[in-house]
Amino acid sequence: MRVLILGGTREARDLAAILVGEPGLAVVTSLAGRVRDPALPAGETVIGGFGGVAGLRAFLRDRAVDAVVDATHPFAATMSAHAVAACLGPGGTRPGDARPGGPGEHQVPLLRLVRPGWAARPGDDWHRVADLDAAGARARELCPPGGAVFVTTGRRQLAPFAVDPDRRYLIRAVDPPTGTLPARHTLLLDRGPYTVDGETRLLRDHDIRVVVTKDSGGDLTAAKLDAARTLGLPVVVIDRPAPPPGAPPSRPDVPAILADLRGLPHKGAPDLP
Ligand code: NAP
Repeated sequence: MRVLILGGTREARDLAAILVGEPGLAVVTSLAGRVRDPALPAGETVIGGFGGVAGLRAFLRDRAVDAVVDATHPFAATMSAHAVAACLGPGGTRPGDARPGGPGEHQVPLLRLVRPGWAARPGDDWHRVADLDAAGARARELCPPGGAVFVTTGRRQLAPFAVDPDRRYLIRAVDPPTGTLPARHTLLLDRGPYTVDGETRLLRDHDIRVVVTKDSGGDLTAAKLDAARTLGLPVVVIDRPAPPPGAPPSRPDVPAILADLRGLPHKGAPDLP
């Protein structure tokens, strides 16, 4: 059985670590190649994208892939949509569906591993918004001119903050940002995991008034939320994009995906842990 993991998350690495070395199972993880020094999963990796839906479809066919696990980041909406289109064809389907694809279409079971989003706790002052543009606008409402905003939404699409000449922006990203940046900004190149103590110190040192984050979920970058709560700071939280039309229901963690993989009808399916 051949499994392709669409990666770029800790969950994808955890899954690869379990599946690699399973007798009768071949696993390959794909990465977009966005970061210069990615955390590599165990086992084979392919880096750099497939070349759209057609490229992914060709990969599945050429490598005789039996199942795909979309374990990409919850905000990697394009890759998830491509996975649905390439694996399931128009309309999508679910593992276990008997519905055949279009004429000559090769369907591949698709599983989705999506870590749960963060939930506000007592004492939090969260402001949920739909997208980065709305996040920029909300941050400007919450932060007085001259104040500082901590932006942790990644190195791309910083234009919604760049329109503001009046506030200071502390931008943290793994690699240097692309595109237009705010006139008054400080760049911090770093990657998690972060500690609450470290995040609290950072927010204090930069006199941060507002924190901006995607609802990424998971432990690796959650410390900033605890730090913001401790300091009584508002947090602008960007909601996740909707799942692509036709996507199968998502599973929250690696054990649930392993259970799904075990249940796939396939000759020679291994005894998964
Ligand atoms: P995206 O916008 O959904 O995808 C853009 C293109 O990047 C895709 O069409 C595909 O290129 C390529 N790609 C994305 N993920 C891939 C993967 N796992 N394997 C192979 N190709 C991939 O993706 P994104 O939001 O830029 O995220 C890129 C990667 O970073 C993902 O692996 C994601 O898990 C990880 N990541 C994203 C975020 C985030 O906030 N978006 C945060 C942390 C980690 P082709 O069309 O050429 O196949």
